[in-house]
Amino acid sequence: MDIGFIKNVTYSLFEECKLKYKKCNQFLIDEAHENGALWVGISDTAGIIFISPSVPISDYGCIAHELGHGAHEASRIDDKKGEGFADAIRYFVEEKHIKSDWFNKAKSAIKDSSVLVECEWDFLVFKEMCLSDKFNFLKPISQRL
Ligand SMILES: [Zn+2]
Repeated sequence: MDIGFIKNVTYSLFEECKLKYKKCNQFLIDEAHENGALWVGISDTAGIIFISPSVPISDYGCIAHELGHGAHEASRIDDKKGEGFADAIRYFVEEKHIKSDWFNKAKSAIKDSSVLVECEWDFLVFKEMCLSDKFNFLKPISQRL
């Protein structure tokens, strides 16, 4: 498992769900980031992901989470569901391709992710909600219910 693989399977998931997303221009292993990884959007279409050197390769599913922030930004910038949405992206990427320790613990560790609860932890339901535009956070504020 490497960064390119995670990136490709995450982009595939976005495309399968017809989600708008920003592309990650650069992955920087950066000692300034002590824990985990961090998405930084740099334009309307792109961003950078900083990854702490302390992140083990077995935990690179975190990159799918950060790419999820890029998709969330491309869809709706200022919504409180960003974290839950990014968790859902990681969960479904891992379910299909990785199944790390994070994935195995996710159902007990993530209790407040309204996105995963909303789609019942089921990718097909998540996809249907994306395709049918049922997630309010994917709509402009003027079109929300
Ligand atoms: Zn996050």
